[in-house]
Amino acid sequence: MSEKHTYGGAYVPEMLWETLQKLDAEFENAKKDTAFKSEFENLLKNYSGRPTPLIFAARATEELGGAKIYLKNEGANHTGAHKITHCLGQALIAKRLGKKMLIADTGAGQHGVATATVAAKLGFSCKIFMGRIDMERQRPNVFLMERLGATVVPVEYGTKTLKDAVNEALKFWMENLDEAYFVIGSVVGPKPYPSMNRYFQSVISREIRAQLQEREGKPPDVVVACVGGGSNAMGSFDDFIHEKSVQLIGVEAGGRGKKLGEHASRVLSGAEGIFQGYKSLFLQTEDGQIAPTHSISAGLDYPGIGPELANLHAEGRVELTYATDDEAVAAVDFFAKLEGVISALESAHALAHVQKIAPKMPKDSIIVATLSGRGDKDLFNFARAFKDESFREFLKDEYGRYE
Ligand SMILES: *Cc1c(COP(=O)(O)O)cnc(C)c1O
Repeated sequence: MSEKHTYGGAYVPEMLWETLQKLDAEFENAKKDTAFKSEFENLLKNYSGRPTPLIFAARATEELGGAKIYLKNEGANHTGAHKITHCLGQALIAKRLGKKMLIADTGAGQHGVATATVAAKLGFSCKIFMGRIDMERQRPNVFLMERLGATVVPVEYGTKTLKDAVNEALKFWMENLDEAYFVIGSVVGPKPYPSMNRYFQSVISREIRAQLQEREGKPPDVVVACVGGGSNAMGSFDDFIHEKSVQLIGVEAGGRGKKLGEHASRVLSGAEGIFQGYKSLFLQTEDGQIAPTHSISAGLDYPGIGPELANLHAEGRVELTYATDDEAVAAVDFFAKLEGVISALESAHALAHVQKIAPKMPKDSIIVATLSGRGDKDLFNFARAFKDESFREFLKDEYGRYE
């Protein structure tokens, strides 16, 4: 993408600028290096399990009575979501840069688990920074990260949540620039991170194109993906951006209301700002402080949106919309019963939008929705959302069974 766009940049302390320049140069070299490409592709194929299936959702298509619906199942990836892809890519870059340690911040823990997984696979030491409150709320992910050999560092100040973890990870990075590589979990952050992570994730759209060509002999009419920071969406869109006949739709977290604090939709109430090293749309207060956000899905509960996605939206190339918590839960249910697919709550926002638009589209049109992850990780959330009382009893009893 060209440099004239509104959003993006690298608004970082001078100390980090040099590190980012080196990263950018190494990434550019890597892209031209066939050995790098084949190592990345080998890991995607023989570790993560690509290509991921493109599922024809036959019963959902019939039920909704409009466009043919396909689901690009990124949940079939190792660790259950698309995140592993940009973590593997970044770890290979870190190796080229001679780094020995991967560091990351994490809120819900999904990015932390993906980073710890890749660190173990490729032989890095790993430190994950996490707010104390998030560690308590996300105990299962802390457990997984520790089993994968990572050190989870509790952050005890501020709100003890994600933004404090980001600050602490940045501080550690600046003190250990020679040794540590900072793994960013979406198409966000200072450049070159947004375009680098898009590059890694673009495999999703290339596979969609090839798989659909084989099955239908044509590209999709619509591609829909959920948007937290935007990595699964940018990956799903990338290969179609210059093909204007393909409509690209990102679905944000509409949460439980339209007031600031009740959702995580930048298209609802975002404003231009600079945060965590990049300029984009952020949910913020009138004073420019980052506002609290809410979503039933941890992965969409983030105040900012990837700068390239914000640019594509500003140019009118990508449409952004939202689905509410309740719509997402209903979409999980719908696709579970009709397709045997239990979607992650994040991805269910995209599925909810499919339920809205498919019936209005002609029967020979095609929607591809990206299923960014599978729902295993949301077991506790689902049990709560579906008000499953006996599951609640199970959790209580499980404590007693511990011995
Ligand atoms: C993290 C996550 C997301 C949100 O991240 P993006 O960068 O917007 O893709 C979406 N779905 C799942 C399953 C996730 O784990």
